[in-house]
Amino acid sequence: MRNNRKKCLVCKEPMARWIFGMPDYESVKEGLENNTILIGGCIISDNDPIWTCLHCCISYRYDGVGYVDKEFIENRAYNSPTYSSDTNEKFELLPYQLPDKIQTILKEDFLEKLKTIRSVGFHFNKGGYSSSVDDILYLDGILVWNHYESQDAYYGHKRPELPTNVFILSPVWKKILNTFLISSKWKRNYVDLGVMDGTQWELTRLFQKKKKNSYGSNEFPEVYEELMEMLEAIEMGITNGILGKFV
Ligand SMILES: [Zn+2]
Repeated sequence: MRNNRKKCLVCKEPMARWIFGMPDYESVKEGLENNTILIGGCIISDNDPIWTCLHCCISYRYDGVGYVDKEFIENRAYNSPTYSSDTNEKFELLPYQLPDKIQTILKEDFLEKLKTIRSVGFHFNKGGYSSSVDDILYLDGILVWNHYESQDAYYGHKRPELPTNVFILSPVWKKILNTFLISSKWKRNYVDLGVMDGTQWELTRLFQKKKKNSYGSNEFPEVYEELMEMLEAIEMGITNGILGKFV
């Protein structure tokens, strides 16, 4: 197994593999000592990670999609290489910081600064007067998703340091999403004048160094629905393995 360790898609370092259930201690001893194995609980769910990068605190699901693992970050003192299980001693940990590649996307002008012809990105925002707001940023395989309970919570506030969700797309997903962003046809405006407030959305796509904007008010074209379906599938995970198994 040691020669077969998966590498983190963000930092390219080899990761630790999760073992669930009740493993025989002798068989995992070495892995625990050299941080190639992490012990999960006895309760196994579809959402359990398969691998975790100890540097980035990014865990990877069965379908190969990674996510910034808040639970792991909270417990990382115990999972860290320098934690001593003999003395049960916790040590001072520096606050968690998102990897640079992700921090770049959190900057206001993340679509401006990018200047490679191959970069594909988008900024999507959806909200309404009395509803929650979803603000989603994407660049080259990294999806940063912030959810705000109200418009007030969204406007006038800085993006949080630790976003609601950060997903690292598997190569298969990255290709699907990039292809969609480049080839789907969007009009500039979709407006239903018959509705007074409701839902407003805005999408800025970036590809081939160009930005294209679309805006909608209570109108949702088919391409919009397609994008929503993809985002939902990335968020929820597809566990039947059709999108490239990672294990
Ligand atoms: Zn990493």
